[in-house]
Order: sequence, then C-alpha cells, then structure tokens
Amino acid sequence: MLVLRGSDSGSQPAKSANASSAGQSVATGNSDGESAAGREAGGGQPDDSWQPYTGPVPILMYHVIGDPVGEVPYPDLWLSESDFQAQVDWLAENDYTAVTLVQVQNAWYDGGTLPEKPIVLSFDDGVLGQYVYGLPILREKGWAGQLNLKAEGSDLSSEQVLKMARAGWEIASHTINHFDLTTLDPASLEQELAGSKQQLEDELGIEIVNFCYPAGQYNDTVIEAVKAAGYRGATTVNPGLGERTMPSN
Ligand SMILES: [Zn+2]
Repeated sequence: MLVLRGSDSGSQPAKSANASSAGQSVATGNSDGESAAGREAGGGQPDDSWQPYTGPVPILMYHVIGDPVGEVPYPDLWLSESDFQAQVDWLAENDYTAVTLVQVQNAWYDGGTLPEKPIVLSFDDGVLGQYVYGLPILREKGWAGQLNLKAEGSDLSSEQVLKMARAGWEIASHTINHFDLTTLDPASLEQELAGSKQQLEDELGIEIVNFCYPAGQYNDTVIEAVKAAGYRGATTVNPGLGERTMPSN
C-alpha cells in the first residue's frame, strides 16, 4: 500500500515529519517498557500547575519515526529517532507539555485545565515507529501523544494501540481506508466516519472522540458528516494554531 501522506493532519505542520510506511525499517521488538502501573504512570496527567485555558494550542504532526533503508518514496518525510528525541527535548526545554486533543477540548469547552504551554503531538496513520520510538520517548517526559489511527491497514496491533492508550495517548479515528473524503458518496462517507469510529471502539474497547481528515481533505459536506458521526473535533493540515472556535477545521 502506498498513500501519500505528505500533508496530513494537525493544524500546524511546522516541525513535523511525514512519510509513507512503504520501506519502513524500524525495529519490531517490544521496547515500550510499559509498567504494570499502566495509565497512572503514563503521560499527560494533570497536576496542580495546570490552569483553565481557552486560548489557541499548537498541534504538530508526525508520520514515520525511524530511518529509511534504501529507496523510499518520500525520504524527506521521515524523521529519525534521534531527531524526534531532539525535538521533544527542545519542546521540554522550552517549557512545553504535550497533551491530547481531548484535554484541550475539556479546557476549551468544559472548564478543564491545561499546562502553561500546551501542545498536541499527533501521529498519523498508525506507523510502527510511533509505537517503537514515539511511545517511550514521550513516556520519559510524562507526556501523551495523539494517535490518528486508520481502522484498517495500520502497522499497529490492537495490543500495541492499547498500550499507547494506557500510557495516556488519545486514539482518534483517521477513517477506515484513508480515502479523500471530499470524493465520496454519502453512504461511503458515513461508513468511513461513523463506521471507523464504531470499528475502533469495538476493537479497542475505548471511546473514540476525535477525527483526523486523511491528507487534510475536507469541505462543508465532510464537516457536517463528521459532526453527524458524533465526533467532537477534527484536525486538518491548515497552518496555524488550533482554536476553540474551529472544532472541525
Ligand atoms: Zn493519514
């Protein structure tokens, strides 16, 4: 399978790295180091320093974390483990704290709290390096990421996804088949939106709250269908910060 993901997800593409999963070369071993403490030891948990906040929040997007071996279709879209580590270190040194979109929405709409400099780190499609490298690197900071997961065809097993969820990650839907939603008939659109939400919830046993447009493609019809499918918000590739007044774009 080859899907161009060069412009996918997240309201602020800066510092992001995108790639196809073709030719991916990350290790396949289980290196997440999850403890029995599960979610309690995971990332993104509020503490006394978190305050009410309704302002804009940056959303970064990542695709493949790892080093391509040989020829890959979009080599510029890969980010090595060390470069990802350096970006996370830079964010931490500059007082950012990674949170999930649900945590942002709870602050925007329901009086929840956020750290002083919140940021959402989103990961597209469900690529193995996100689990092998992304999960432990964020866990070491006590942070949570956002996994925008295809209901079918991702690299990740349900068990791996649930380990991320237990570490505090939000799992959001990214359709079933990663089609351009602006090209679909109404029944297919509903299946990709409501169907993917149901499929992920059935398989994972967790609530799927948010959505990410494949390749960032949407229009007014798609936005209405996202709302009708019961999503709270959706992420795009539009430059700029995430705003509470634009939950679906
Ligand atoms: Zn994607």
